[in-house]
Amino acid sequence: MLDGFAGLWCVNIGYGRSEVIEAAQRQMSKLPYASSFFGFANEPALQLAEELVRLSPESLQHVFFTLGGSDAVDSTLKTIRYFFNVTGRPEKKHVIGLERGYHGVSSTGAGLTGLTSCHRFFDLPLPNQHHIPSHYRYRSSYGVTDAEIISGSVAALETKVTDLGGSEKVAAFFCEPVQGSGGVIVPPEGWLAAMRDACAKLDILFVVDEVITGFGRTGQLFACDWERVEPDIMIIAKGLTSGYSPMGAVLMNDEIYRALVDKVPRDLPFAHGFTYTGHPVSAAVALACLEIYERERLPENSKVVGAHLLNGLDALREHPWVGDVRGKGLLAAIELVANRETRESFDPRLNVSQLVRRKAYENGLIVRAFSDNVIGLAPPLVVGEGDIDQMLDRLARAICAAQTDLREA
Ligand code: PMP
Repeated sequence: MLDGFAGLWCVNIGYGRSEVIEAAQRQMSKLPYASSFFGFANEPALQLAEELVRLSPESLQHVFFTLGGSDAVDSTLKTIRYFFNVTGRPEKKHVIGLERGYHGVSSTGAGLTGLTSCHRFFDLPLPNQHHIPSHYRYRSSYGVTDAEIISGSVAALETKVTDLGGSEKVAAFFCEPVQGSGGVIVPPEGWLAAMRDACAKLDILFVVDEVITGFGRTGQLFACDWERVEPDIMIIAKGLTSGYSPMGAVLMNDEIYRALVDKVPRDLPFAHGFTYTGHPVSAAVALACLEIYERERLPENSKVVGAHLLNGLDALREHPWVGDVRGKGLLAAIELVANRETRESFDPRLNVSQLVRRKAYENGLIVRAFSDNVIGLAPPLVVGEGDIDQMLDRLARAICAAQTDLREA
């Protein structure tokens, strides 16, 4: 069985890595738990924070540890609210995300997520949460050239801020550098940098959710590195510990951190943190993972083998169902359509992507099926071209088998 999705796009270093297992065991024997409250810290967490500051974009100078992505998004939203309240801008409350964006499932983050399934019946989004259209080229709201998509996105953000009452009322814009759960949607080159600049001009915080894209997934350690983008806040999880142990983090700039520490009323310090904030075993696991990313140059492998994957997926266009192929590094997808000329979608009742996923499984390959008949691939970053060829072969067979099934139904 080949895992073409790295668990839940998190097992970046692959399975059974003894260095990581031993690091966890050593840390468990030495100190299995330490509170991060009351001024305490622990060695692996401190060391990991230093490493993350060293490796991440310059702007990010401080780290708050969480247990995963959703609580990192929720912590970010609370931090932003606190930041503007203690710096005398309590009116800055609205937050903006992208349609098809995904920011976890907490009561706050799920509203910022731009997927109807995460909103319906949950009374979400919250009244201060808003969305602008995705940069989704295949079904574009903005036109199809890079320039049209970039200028359209910037204009949509500016208009949304104006509609919400201007910069004084808006706190932040959130995005993933590549949209993951929305269907692996890759923005045009220059989009991320343009949105960063737009946020600076609009005087709103620019928050990047690198929960999937971080730790080599797109071919750089962080996807922000492609365009040297310096966010105000970066959210990470998944590849941080490669799924060997739960952990996430919020990386923030010095101005925000200083406000949390210096500007708070003495009797009311920043009251936020979890029992397992900075968990020493997870921190030791993360440090072992970082060593592997660096030693084995996994971001570079992701770039090189990712290009091979994208070429292979492009060749699948021979199949009449394959309408769109997209990806960056080892993060890729195909979109299956009923009619390639008109891009007409399949009747959702046919459940085509689930059928292909099942056929892939029967052929020894795990892929992910998204809504709108998107099939996603995000294998561990240790794969070689030979592994990719096997995955592509199994996927091609799965699509043909699904077509046969449908024809005979
Ligand atoms: N943000 C993004 C971009 C994600 O993809 C995810 C999880 N897939 C999350 C946040 C939430 O992370 P978790 O599942 O660890 O809570």
